[in-house]
Amino acid sequence: KANRKFHPEDSVVDVQGVKIGGGHFAVIAGPCSVESAEQVTSIARDVKASGAAMLRGGAFKPRTSPYSFQGMGESGLDLLLEAKAATGLPIVSEIMAPRYAELFEEKVDLVQIGARNMQNFDLLKEVGKLSKPVLLKRGLANTYEEWIMSAEYIMAAGNENVILCERGVRTFETYTRNTLDLSAIPAIRQMSHLPIIVDPSHAAGMYWMVEPLALAATAIGADGLIVEVHNDPAHAKCDGQQSLTPEKFDTLMKKVESLRAWRE
Ligand code: PEP
Ligand code: MN
Repeated sequence: KANRKFHPEDSVVDVQGVKIGGGHFAVIAGPCSVESAEQVTSIARDVKASGAAMLRGGAFKPRTSPYSFQGMGESGLDLLLEAKAATGLPIVSEIMAPRYAELFEEKVDLVQIGARNMQNFDLLKEVGKLSKPVLLKRGLANTYEEWIMSAEYIMAAGNENVILCERGVRTFETYTRNTLDLSAIPAIRQMSHLPIIVDPSHAAGMYWMVEPLALAATAIGADGLIVEVHNDPAHAKCDGQQSLTPEKFDTLMKKVESLRAWRE
């Protein structure tokens, strides 16, 4: 189902009226984690004013250490819904386990499968039963073929609204958090009709590298971006070092827009 051979036209995924793929480009922005109503609503208003089409925010966080902030859980989803009510932005959040399927079906507009769960096949089958579109991040060390097969799991279970997201992979390099694999965009286009967006934040791991990677992803033809933005990066509970301030995000959006105009 994900294979380009049997479906030559680009797929367009519609998230509450926001289209991605087949020439439709959209930027998703917001904090790594939802921390409070003020934090997420204020960031939502700022990123919307800069042109973001959707709001991201983690409520259930896959942290490397069990002692790190694990996210606000269900109450985090409710704060995202408040920010959605205030701005009209559809919300994107990560699901960590099959038992939350009903909760996400009810509350979240675009259900994210994180890199660490790309091959959690039970979870893929479960989100395959949802009516909500799915954002499938590439695993930390997975091939294009494995990534597309994970999309296939979701599609085979009945949900064909899958957006792929390149977020960098593990290599021998340790300077950056991950190595952004821009080859994924033309390669996936060849192999599949599914939309593909890029997450420069988790690839770079450093806020100052987010802009050049985002621009490169836009130039090479990604269908969108997902960018971490925080109103107080120094005190963020998660991923502050790679988060843009709303001001830096605004500058980035202006450059992305002019690059898009130039591409056309
Ligand atoms: C995230 O989007 O906050 C996240 C944890 O991303 P990834 O799964 O790509 O590491
Ligand atoms: Mn993050």
